[in-house]
Amino acid sequence: KFKSKAMEPYDVDLEVLSCGICHSDIHLNEGDWGAFSEFPQVSGHEIVGKVIDKGPLASLEVGDVVGVGWQAASCHACEYCTTGQENLCQDAAKVRYTCAGGSKGGFADYWRGDARFCFKAPPGLDPRTIGPLMCGGGTMYNPLVTHTKPGMHVGILGVGGLGHLGVKLAKARGNSVLAISRLEAKRAEVLAMGADQFVASDDEAQLAAAKNSVDVLIVTVPAAPPSWTPYFDLLKPNGKMVFVGAVPEPVPVQIWPWVCLKQLSVVGSIIAAPHDLNALLQFAGKHPEVAPAIEVMKFKDINKAIARVKAADVRFRMVLEH
Ligand code: NAP
Ligand code: ZN
Repeated sequence: KFKSKAMEPYDVDLEVLSCGICHSDIHLNEGDWGAFSEFPQVSGHEIVGKVIDKGPLASLEVGDVVGVGWQAASCHACEYCTTGQENLCQDAAKVRYTCAGGSKGGFADYWRGDARFCFKAPPGLDPRTIGPLMCGGGTMYNPLVTHTKPGMHVGILGVGGLGHLGVKLAKARGNSVLAISRLEAKRAEVLAMGADQFVASDDEAQLAAAKNSVDVLIVTVPAAPPSWTPYFDLLKPNGKMVFVGAVPEPVPVQIWPWVCLKQLSVVGSIIAAPHDLNALLQFAGKHPEVAPAIEVMKFKDINKAIARVKAADVRFRMVLEH
């Protein structure tokens, strides 16, 4: 058992109802991100919880059901926080993560944190789907809003927790969508969730046929594919390769011919700021088709659930409930 940090004025106490398993939880459990983990590590940052207590400045009420994602606090004063980009807050003393850098996360009975990073969903959503929107969903919504316009051709590399939400959100925002997966077995489900085209990444002919067709390719894989070349080749001139997956290896970006000759950009994207998380929840309220496709297991079976996430065997986001 762990004792929570002392309650601060903006904090709420949540009784955890459910929590999604993001691949970042796996990276944390395995110590992939060095000091971000603190062993014994308690991961979990797609929390859905009921408010059971609150500090005097918390703008939630006891009984509210809220979602919490990766970020749990920011400084509210820097150039990023004051321009709605709290996800980029660099104030190491004030920024906090839900389950990393010294915080214990949502694979727990209770969680205490800043109400300014707890989000209320519109009525009508299955509460268990709110958690995966808070990290996985926001992480896809941010680059889609930032880098795409309706009508663009968007590629999604890797169709797991993040990737399947990328497919759904891109489609619902009016893009045509190319999904690329290692698993041919996902084809029917991925087309049914809105992809216009599905390419199996081990099929060179299918990949080659999609060359020069994608405006923005969002990379969600947690590890490097055998070669990046076919993915850069997918991009049209002026295309963007957007990295959200925490690929640990350096990516060999060829200035010539890719970056110069086709004017490609390589950019990264990190979670989503509070206003985007609120916007995403409202969007999900109006577009039921973007609801995360979840499998639900009990917290007591967490080790089995984590093994399934590691084996990329989940369709498409694992959620734990009590
Ligand atoms: P996930 O649910 O496990 O899905 C990852 C998908 O990537 C798998 O389903 C698989 O899809 C594909 N894949 C390719 N190579 C793989 C490999 N070696 N091992 C496992 N899967 C592989 O993971 P996720 O929760 O979507 O997270 C994906 C990555 O994004 C992680 O690195 C995570 O840390 C990172 N992340 C970043 C942010 C951010 O803000 N930038 C936020 C959240 C998560 P196919 O079977 O379709 O090939
Ligand atoms: Zn996450």
